[in-house]
Amino acid sequence: MQAPPTARDILVLAQIVDLVRGTESATRSFIEAETGLGRAVVNDRLAEGIELGVLEELEPVHEPGRRGRPSRSLRFRADGGVVLSASLGAKSMYASVSDLEGNALASTDRAIDVADGPEATLRVVHRTFQRLLARAGDGAEDRVWGLAIGVPGPVEFRTGRVIAPPIMPGWDGFDVRGWFLEKYGAPVWVDNEVNLMAYGEWARGVPQERRDLLFVKVATGIGAGLVTNGHLHRGDNGAAGDIGHVHVTDDKKAICRCGRTGCLEAVAGGWALLNRLEDAARAGKAPWAAQRLAEKGELTLGDLGTAEAHGDKIVATMSSRNARVAGQAIAGVVNFANPGTLVLGGGAIRGSSLFFDTFRETVLENTIALATRNLTIRTASLDFYEGAIGGALLAIDHLFRPSALRLWLADADPRVRADEIHAVG
Ligand SMILES: [Zn+2]
Repeated sequence: MQAPPTARDILVLAQIVDLVRGTESATRSFIEAETGLGRAVVNDRLAEGIELGVLEELEPVHEPGRRGRPSRSLRFRADGGVVLSASLGAKSMYASVSDLEGNALASTDRAIDVADGPEATLRVVHRTFQRLLARAGDGAEDRVWGLAIGVPGPVEFRTGRVIAPPIMPGWDGFDVRGWFLEKYGAPVWVDNEVNLMAYGEWARGVPQERRDLLFVKVATGIGAGLVTNGHLHRGDNGAAGDIGHVHVTDDKKAICRCGRTGCLEAVAGGWALLNRLEDAARAGKAPWAAQRLAEKGELTLGDLGTAEAHGDKIVATMSSRNARVAGQAIAGVVNFANPGTLVLGGGAIRGSSLFFDTFRETVLENTIALATRNLTIRTASLDFYEGAIGGALLAIDHLFRPSALRLWLADADPRVRADEIHAVG
C-alpha cells in the first residue's frame, strides 16, 4: 500500500501529464530527459497517473538503435471525460461534444436569436448539448469535464460574464459561466465567439501554419480575433477585436443597430447587406431575391450567395463594395498586428468568391509591404465549426495546464473543484 501522493507529487505529475499530452509517443527515458527527474520518481508518478485514469501505457515497442528491453510508451487518455463547446453568433450556433484531444464525437448547428435574451438562448444551447451527449453515447452525459461558450459580444474572460454588448439586449453583466456551472457542475470558460474561431483555425485550420493568426468574421455582424504566440489576445477588458462598431463613414444614412451611425457593420455587416437587398427586391432590382422574399417573408445570409448565383447583379455590386470597406478596416489591423495568417470567415461570404477576392485585394493594397510579405490570406477551413472546435481546445488547454491539473488530479475529476479550476484563468 503506497502513501497517498503529496501536493508536490501532484505538481510533478501535472507536469508529466502536460508533457505526455504534447508528445506523440512519450517513453520513460524521454520523460526523465525532459524533466530531469530520476527513474524512481518518474515511475511513481506514472503509476499514479495510470491509476487516476489520465495516462495509459501502450504495448512495448522496440526503439531503433536501442538495446535491451523494449520501452513502453505512455499516452494521455482522451476518453476519460468529454468537453462541450458552443459558438453562438447573433443568429446561429455551432456546438460539439468532444473527447479530451478535441476530436468531435457529435456536432450540430441550429438557428438561434441572441436578441431573445440570455435565459431563452442558453436554454436552447443546453437542450442542444443534451441531445449531443445522447448521440455521443458511452455515458458521455456523466463525464462532462468542462464547457466553453462563445458569445457574439465582449466577455470578461476571468469571470465569464458578458460586458456591455452592443447587440445583445438583456445580456449585459449576465453570468454565462454561473448558468452552465449550475447545470453541469463542471468548469466553464466563456469567450467572445470570434476568439474561439481564431483559436480553432490557429490550432486545427488547413493548412496548419501555427503562425500568428487574425480571424475576421463577416456574418450578421463583424468581428475579429487574434492569436499571437499561441495565445488569444483578449485585451485589458476583453474588448479586443470588437471592430464591428468602429467608425468608417460620415454618411448619416449608415444607421447602425448599436444606435450610432457610420459603423463598419452598418456599411458591411450581413444585416446591413440583407436590408439593402430587401430594399432592392422591393424596388424590382433583384428578381430572385424578390421571389424568395415573397415566399419566406425574410431573407437570410445564405440567400446572398444564391441570389448572386441566380443573376441578381446588385448582390455582386453590394458584395464588392462591402468587401472593400471591410478590407480597408482590416488592413489597419494587419499593419498593427502583423499576423502570418489572415482568415476570412462567417456566413455572409458563403457562396461568394467575389467577396473574398475583393477583400484580399483591398487588404494587400492598403497594408505596408513588410506586414504582408509572408502573409497568407485564406478563407476559413473548418466548415463553420471553427468556433466549436476552438472552444473545445480552449477548455481542454485550461483543464490540463499544470496550475489547473494540480487542483483536480488527486480526485481524478475536475468537477470536484470546478469553481477553483475555471478561476485559474
Ligand atoms: Zn454600431
